[in-house]
Amino acid sequence: MSTLEIRDLHVAVEDKEILRGVNLTVAAGQTHAIMGPNGSGKSTLAYAIAGHPKYTITSGKVLLDGVDLLELSVDERARAGLFLAMQYPVEVPGVSVSNFLRSAVTAVRGEAPKLREFAKDLKNGMDALSIDSAFAQRNLNEGFSGGEKKRHEILQMELLKPKIAVLDETDSGLDVDALRVVSEGINRFRASGETGVLLITHYTRILRYVKPDFVHVFAAGRIVEEGGPELAEKLEAEGYEQYTKASA
Ligand code: ADP
Ligand code: MG
Ligand code: MG
Repeated sequence: MSTLEIRDLHVAVEDKEILRGVNLTVAAGQTHAIMGPNGSGKSTLAYAIAGHPKYTITSGKVLLDGVDLLELSVDERARAGLFLAMQYPVEVPGVSVSNFLRSAVTAVRGEAPKLREFAKDLKNGMDALSIDSAFAQRNLNEGFSGGEKKRHEILQMELLKPKIAVLDETDSGLDVDALRVVSEGINRFRASGETGVLLITHYTRILRYVKPDFVHVFAAGRIVEEGGPELAEKLEAEGYEQYTKASA
């Protein structure tokens, strides 16, 4: 069983300290929600774990089964079993969704999946997410709607079968139907018990569909409160104001 351990993580962007000591442990089979006001550093946490060059780790560790991910290249992190769904995926003209996904699976596994097997997994994944079959031939991210981007992220996750998945703002820009399909995808995926999910969100909406085991509240670059799913309900009722006042 895999574990992601974030230990006293400090991250700066352009010499400004954004994360100020984050501690968090996510085990396979668990779903953790990180919630917090805009600008509190939630995406910075995701980018830092992903190895985005703009985010400087000033101290701390991010261990996946004891291996410090921060010492690995971005590709090595993916091979180690980390999956990051980014908030703003890039467009890649000339690369189809199908080609992109097969390359991604090849990169993570270290060998190309058999074409027929891959085609079957891809079809099953797309069917489960109510994605039209023509989608596989479209250029990566080109003209994708919010719902298509999110479905594509969940499809990637289903094909890559990561140990730990970090999903940032998965509910942004989704209508209720898309939100349900995406949430069902996450729930199907986590039911295997083999993946730990870190779900980063500003809104409580998605947490009605994806019940987290643990909720962590972020404010000004730190976790300021932790609890079970009931904490998400409290946040829905009371908002973040109490935390932004306290940490300002
Ligand atoms: P959240 O995801 O919680 O809304 P972010 O991590 O996006 O918060 O932002 C946290 C803080 O870090 C903000 O003050 C933001 O302006 C700053 N920040 C984040 N990324 C960058 C960046 N690439 N360049 C400059 N400032 C950044
Ligand atoms: Mg934001
Ligand atoms: Mg964000």
